[in-house]
Amino acid sequence: MSASRKLASFRLPPLPTVGELIKLYNLRAEKQLSQNFLLDLRLTDKLVRQAGSLRDAHVCEVGPGPAGLTRSILNAGAADVLVVEKDSRFIPGLKLLSEAAPGKLRIVHGDILTYRMDRGFPRNISKSWEEDPPNLHIIGNLPFSVATPLIIKWLENIADRTGPFVYGRTRLTLTFQKEVAERLTASTGSRQRSRLSVMAQYLCTVRNCFTIPGRAFVPKPEVDVGVVRFTPLVQPQIQQPFKLVEKVVRNIFQFRRKYCHKGVEKLFPEACRMELTQEMMQKADVDPTLRPTELTIPQVRALADAYAHLCAHDPSLLNYEYRDELRLKHLTRQKKAPVDTFMDM
Ligand code: SAM
Repeated sequence: MSASRKLASFRLPPLPTVGELIKLYNLRAEKQLSQNFLLDLRLTDKLVRQAGSLRDAHVCEVGPGPAGLTRSILNAGAADVLVVEKDSRFIPGLKLLSEAAPGKLRIVHGDILTYRMDRGFPRNISKSWEEDPPNLHIIGNLPFSVATPLIIKWLENIADRTGPFVYGRTRLTLTFQKEVAERLTASTGSRQRSRLSVMAQYLCTVRNCFTIPGRAFVPKPEVDVGVVRFTPLVQPQIQQPFKLVEKVVRNIFQFRRKYCHKGVEKLFPEACRMELTQEMMQKADVDPTLRPTELTIPQVRALADAYAHLCAHDPSLLNYEYRDELRLKHLTRQKKAPVDTFMDM
């Protein structure tokens, strides 16, 4: 049999079940680390299939825990699996699995939020951004507590082509609370359309693959879970710096139910608010009475471009934050309060 056929047909040898390992190492789930385990290998296999072919792939798995998903990744033919796990209690079980799959499993005991993935894989697997994605995948049954900050960080990395995206358009297959998965994939006009929908979809093709019922996890979380797959776009739909897009989108969506010009106004200091809002809406040619949820990505692009144009004329606008102004007003009111009380007496 050729070496490549041997690789493709790799199966893990018989091992204790994931449930037995949990008992063996007395691994009680820690709520603080959002630990909800997937023990059903048919489900972990299904999750892994959403990533596409993993034959000879490099994979970073986030939070392997008792390693059910890791087994499915190895059985799918991945050649190099790097797991990043914060909880040291799982390391002995992962070492056992590593012995069963010699040379295929690398274990990092660390925090995925700070782990430098740009150093985790050989540079020769890189593909240029315009080519097909590299044979590198990020897969994870994410801890709920880090899922949203993590995807925002990775979206920024996609925009800057840093972190896991120094290798090219690395694909991600990740779990989120069902509600977050729906927001990530919500289309224009839908009830779940939000800031996260626009930020994810301007940079990636995003697919809500399937829902895992809460009862499939141990312990059972309060919510169901959605599996989402992201493929970075060759050409982002908005070509402005990530931070600028994030600011425009955040301001627009801060009044979800109001007309979109309400949020746009808050991009500007009070003194020039009305005038610049009008100028921005006209330049973008966007109907100011659309609700934020009704805006398409091309309309958000037009708004971001118009805002960038205004900032080019007056760079101080970039530093203006409505929420800072609010905070300042609140503080001033608080400072004044004792004096007022004193005068009342
Ligand atoms: N992959 C396992 C499964 O599907 O059964 C466990 C999933 S559990 C929802 C999340 C895992 O992520 C836990 O093992 C937890 O210890 C780990 N974790 C939590 N926060 C982490 C972080 N910041 N960095 C790396 N791992 C983390």
